[in-house]
Amino acid sequence: MLSATLVGAETWDVQKEGSFEYVKASQVKEFYGFSTLTVEEDFFELETSDLRFSFEEGRSVMMVNGIRHVLTTPNLVRGSEALIGKRDVIFLIDPILRPDHLKKVQPLDVIVIDPGHGGKDPGTQCALGYESELNLIIAKKVKAQLVKQLGDRVRVLLTRYENKTLSLRERVDIVTKYPNSIVVSIHGNGIGGIQAKSIEGVETFIMSPEGVAGYNTANTSSVDQRRLGNNFDQSNAILGTSIHTELIKALPQAKDRGLKRARFALVQAVPVPGVLIETGFLTHPEEHKRLFNEKYQDRIALAVTKGLVRYYNVSRFVNEVFRLREGISE
Ligand SMILES: [Zn+2]
Repeated sequence: MLSATLVGAETWDVQKEGSFEYVKASQVKEFYGFSTLTVEEDFFELETSDLRFSFEEGRSVMMVNGIRHVLTTPNLVRGSEALIGKRDVIFLIDPILRPDHLKKVQPLDVIVIDPGHGGKDPGTQCALGYESELNLIIAKKVKAQLVKQLGDRVRVLLTRYENKTLSLRERVDIVTKYPNSIVVSIHGNGIGGIQAKSIEGVETFIMSPEGVAGYNTANTSSVDQRRLGNNFDQSNAILGTSIHTELIKALPQAKDRGLKRARFALVQAVPVPGVLIETGFLTHPEEHKRLFNEKYQDRIALAVTKGLVRYYNVSRFVNEVFRLREGISE
């Protein structure tokens, strides 16, 4: 991959701390043309005129213009030098800053929306209903918005249109039929016991890069193996950050739990880019009421649509750039 070789290049001074590899924030500043790098004892920040990336020492979090992005490697400050995980530069910072440097983005002809659960599997439940119903309502709203905004430029499909049972295999098979597609899986969250009262918020998951088990987790044995979904690490990052950013902007009441990586069954098994959205906690005493409010659902759907349209535009742009480059080299 282009950006992988970039970080491996001689100009980058990769250093090891424990089991993690790091690059210097000062080099990130130079390479990407940030105007300032501020390093404090427990905090550092990179800025351009319209982007602010903030890092806390010892934590695996990066705030991008205030939106939470969970990293795979804890940030470090060593004296006057700030360090960022090499994998986070390759798989998150680079795609955010230079989507046009993606090696390749598949043309996007089909968007598959996957309402989680259904039928015999209702998912999380609360006093107002089942997660499977909520996921389907939101999925249908996203489809309606996408059709409104993109017209016939893309085909929009749902993995299910009614309350029916669908296995993981069946969902993967539907997506696999459309090689030039992306998949957006829609879920609601739940947690049991005493934590139900306090845990709330929105989180967006993309596939963990190779060598990383999940967010905030160092790699161990079999869980970190390369999967099909890793062919799209950089596309996944653009898709994930686009949707998560729009969700947090559109839902000021919701706690921002971050863009995270995990090896969820669907996103690791599909041969196309994918993202899984957790729209909120049905187990939380306040959040579940918002989730079953139609206006709130509309806001979620519109935010997801904006993120998807942004991804669509990036993919169009990248493919256009590649077409032009090929034309020149002929
Ligand atoms: Zn679910």
